[in-house]
Amino acid sequence: MTVGPRSGLSPGGLWLDSSAPLPAARHTNTVHPHVKKLLELQKVDQEISSLTKDIDALPAEEAKRRKKLDELERVLNERRARLQKTELDSRALDKAVRGSDDEIKRLNERLNIVRNNAEYQATLFQIEAVRKDRDVTQDECLKLLEACETQKAETATAESAWSEEKKVFDAFLAEADKLRQSRAGGIAAARERRKPMTEGIPEDLLREYDGLYKTREHQAVCPVEKSYCQGCYNKITMNDTAKLLGGSAVVRCGSCQRILYLTR
Ligand SMILES: [Zn+2]
Repeated sequence: MTVGPRSGLSPGGLWLDSSAPLPAARHTNTVHPHVKKLLELQKVDQEISSLTKDIDALPAEEAKRRKKLDELERVLNERRARLQKTELDSRALDKAVRGSDDEIKRLNERLNIVRNNAEYQATLFQIEAVRKDRDVTQDECLKLLEACETQKAETATAESAWSEEKKVFDAFLAEADKLRQSRAGGIAAARERRKPMTEGIPEDLLREYDGLYKTREHQAVCPVEKSYCQGCYNKITMNDTAKLLGGSAVVRCGSCQRILYLTR
């Protein structure tokens, strides 16, 4: 068996192949201690985010539903007010009709005591005028009574629409409360666990992390695989790869600014 300088059995019995990565490279691939801490912090933050996700959406959902309910209430109040006005108007007209009836009765009685024909004719004329007015008023009154019936039905429709929505809204509020209560314990516990985890991380790096966490879909620290940032899938430079292998500097992706680490 021929043993060449770059292949064959090493003294330790390991088969060396020039195309395989140098074992030494794996051992020097240590993640920077601050990045390691940030990665642990990020796991807890992601846990908190998933626990608060639905809860954070609740106020906007509540506002949207409340707006819908308020609109239905506004329509209901408008219809109630309109119906009330129509009822009052119709009552006033009815009173006017009865007033005219009384007046006609009084004028008819006067016919029996008039002293001459001219007075008699004048009274007849007056009766006719009052009767004409009375009939017009009564027609108006009947129209309003008809309108009342339509408006009553419309008000009832608005009332049931509002009360249906109110039931849905109250059920939503109860569900939201239940969700908040069920998550409260888990969220508080995770936040408590997070507190000591920021210790030893420089303040400006922590601020940078917080900003990235918010703006980069809850992934501020992300792995590099086969030289590609797994946050934005852009290739990172040889220089950055070397720095990551060294593990002595915090390296950011040149494209998305995420804080990087090597997975292997
Ligand atoms: Zn990136």
